[in-house]
Amino acid sequence: MNEYDSSKMLDLMRLERGMELTDDPSIADLILLNTCSIREKPQEKVFSQLGRWKEYKKINPNLVIGVGGCVASQEGTNIINRAPYVDLVFGPQTLHRLPTMYDQVINSRDSVVDISFPKIEKFTVLPKTQEIKPSAFVSIMEGCSKFCSFCVVPYTRGLEVSRMPEGILDEIKDLADRGVKEVNLLGQNVNAYRAKDLSGRKLKLADLIEQVADIKGIERIRFTTSHPLQFTDDLITIFENPKLANYLHLPVQSGSNKILKLMERKHKVDLYIERINKLRKLRPDISISSDFIVGFPGETDHDFQETLDLIDIIGFDQSFSFIFSPRPNTPAANMEDNISYKIKLNRLNQLQSKINNNARHISQNMVGSDQIVLVEKKSKKAKNQLAGRTENNRWVNFDGDESLIGQLIKLRITEALPNSLRARCIN
Ligand code: SAM
Ligand code: SF4
Repeated sequence: MNEYDSSKMLDLMRLERGMELTDDPSIADLILLNTCSIREKPQEKVFSQLGRWKEYKKINPNLVIGVGGCVASQEGTNIINRAPYVDLVFGPQTLHRLPTMYDQVINSRDSVVDISFPKIEKFTVLPKTQEIKPSAFVSIMEGCSKFCSFCVVPYTRGLEVSRMPEGILDEIKDLADRGVKEVNLLGQNVNAYRAKDLSGRKLKLADLIEQVADIKGIERIRFTTSHPLQFTDDLITIFENPKLANYLHLPVQSGSNKILKLMERKHKVDLYIERINKLRKLRPDISISSDFIVGFPGETDHDFQETLDLIDIIGFDQSFSFIFSPRPNTPAANMEDNISYKIKLNRLNQLQSKINNNARHISQNMVGSDQIVLVEKKSKKAKNQLAGRTENNRWVNFDGDESLIGQLIKLRITEALPNSLRARCIN
């Protein structure tokens, strides 16, 4: 989501203020930091990074430094109090006002803070994506109304708001016309998508995907991130459509019902297993990934063992897993943290090595198989090599001509490496 937001900031400043991107901060007129406050560590990095950029103001007194994203949304003017050389503070919902805010700073040489939540206005004014790549993110909803006890998102990004389907479909048609083959529909809880089209018809995520799949040129569809509670039958059925990638990211957080309750996830482990089993009737070899939090307050060895058991039941292929981080103003921050850091780290290592093992096995089983790969770019590994992604989200490197970039091609997998695959063209 932040990657998408950052690309939109760049598009806006390019189109509306004629700016260009530079790798050299010492010659920049504007430096923006897009931030994440989901855990404490990235939040702390914000101020050390800003401290380093402060020096560039000595070289260029007209330099404007801005902070966007969820730390900005959470801290607002506190950012300017702690780092007075920051000129601009804007939230995820006001990034579309960036050019005007930039002008205000330039004209007044005073700091500007706008972390309001002006509903969905932003999507009606954001410019078209400028830099076209074979795969594109498309934001379809924002915010979250679930209020899990550990999470800041509902406070920093606001409640769930869905974008009008017409705007989404127009954006994707335009992307397809310009060569995009794969779209990844984005939302904090993308399957909470609920909207009405101009004729008054109600649409859920599955309905929207059906329409996206009809767009000429779009060959592969992904959606991120879903909540198990709204991973309903219609979304399972949509996997009958071959355009849906054979990959699903469905965060579960924990395999213990006791912990899920404390997390206020509003479902039990059985629901998760039942949903995946149903999906696997349609797609037996689909790759499933999840988010996990370990060391949540009250998590016993037994609770953690239940998480490891769930990993065995589902056979997760990938995970985004972290130690619980208490976040300001969330209920879990006031729960008694009774687990030592050593135990938390040990649990995280166990969980990650179990899932890495699964991933290794899945990769090894792919050796000798033919996979459809979307060729995305030149490989960094070697000259004359290209890199693309399989349906199950693995990077594949292979020898090929640059003209293949942007195409979906069939490759024979020849080798499984720890973080990627090797392959050769078969026709
Ligand atoms: N909406 C999705 C869901 O409910 O599963 C996830 C989106 S959330 C922005 C991304 C992930 O960050 C969560 O799935 C969770 O694992 C992690 N996360 C959120 N708050 C956290 C916290 N306080 N400590 C550690 N990890 C956290
Ligand atoms: Fe955060 Fe996801 Fe829970 Fe929403 S559903 S509060 S984004 S973890």
